[in-house]
Amino acid sequence: MPIDGKTRIVGVLGDPVAHSASPAMHNAAFAAAGLNWVYLACHVPPERLAGAIRGARDLGWVGLNLTVPHKVAALEVVEQLDDEAKQLGAVNTLRFGENGRIEGHNTDGYGLVKALEEEFGLTLAGRQVLILGAGGGAGRALAMKCALEGVDSLYLANRTRERVEELATRVRATGTKVELLSLVEAASVLDKVELIINATSVGLQLGDTLPVMPGRGHYVYDTIYNPPETALLRAARQAGARVANGLSMLLHQGARAWEIWTGQPAPISAMRAALRQAVAGMSG
Ligand code: NAP
Repeated sequence: MPIDGKTRIVGVLGDPVAHSASPAMHNAAFAAAGLNWVYLACHVPPERLAGAIRGARDLGWVGLNLTVPHKVAALEVVEQLDDEAKQLGAVNTLRFGENGRIEGHNTDGYGLVKALEEEFGLTLAGRQVLILGAGGGAGRALAMKCALEGVDSLYLANRTRERVEELATRVRATGTKVELLSLVEAASVLDKVELIINATSVGLQLGDTLPVMPGRGHYVYDTIYNPPETALLRAARQAGARVANGLSMLLHQGARAWEIWTGQPAPISAMRAALRQAVAGMSG
């Protein structure tokens, strides 16, 4: 579809952002749905975030995605937060509503829930879950989502303990049992958990390893999707665990954002195919 005077614009703001697979996924979805829309990736440093969001709104863009490191800082600019974003304490999707009102949503938790269903046929209610990297932006949102979905116990492991203390208080307020751990201590609770989620950035570089060795009975979900198999996933697969990488979460959080902007059901298979191709291109 050629870009013309009627083309509607959305995009992602991040720092860095050049590696993002989201433009490929969303633009394929617009093509599949026959929409004259375009999705751009914009490199925006933290000090320009508020100006960039308001600028996109003033230019008549439909909305935005936010990625590292903007998901929490953007809360300052948002004028209306939906319940999920409020509870997760972060936004990854904005929509510019009536009179330019900046509306904030969080589709990352939804993405995780859909991904676990699709990859493992797993629902979270009543489960014992270990989150590695619970102090990061993604880990915090996923921990809260697990609590809201009714997990029985959450083991929150992080390199820097102080970064999970406030989160632990919020999680306990939902009635979920919580234990805080260092990454090394995480190894000692493996026999108590069914699902292990890696939300650290350890594994992004080939050769990065975590001090955790999953076993046969575990489900292991790594939010990293590039490389497609981290050292954690490889070790888990070799030990007989069920494993999946973060591509499915990226897909489903993106599909939900797409629906928020367009008001139409997302063309999931076109988005999945575009994502797979984009990620294969990055690794190859
Ligand atoms: P972030 O806010 O920078 O958090 C990074 C996390 O990794 C923190 O918990 C940090 O611990 C930990 N960490 C970093 N280096 C470490 C090291 N050398 N040893 C131990 N722990 C280390 O990043 P984020 O936005 O949460 O992203 C985290 C991961 O999630 C990334 O791998 C990203 O690719 C992935 N992600 C995937 C999706 C998806 O849709 N699949 C979406 C969002 C994020 P400290 O607190 O101690 O610094």
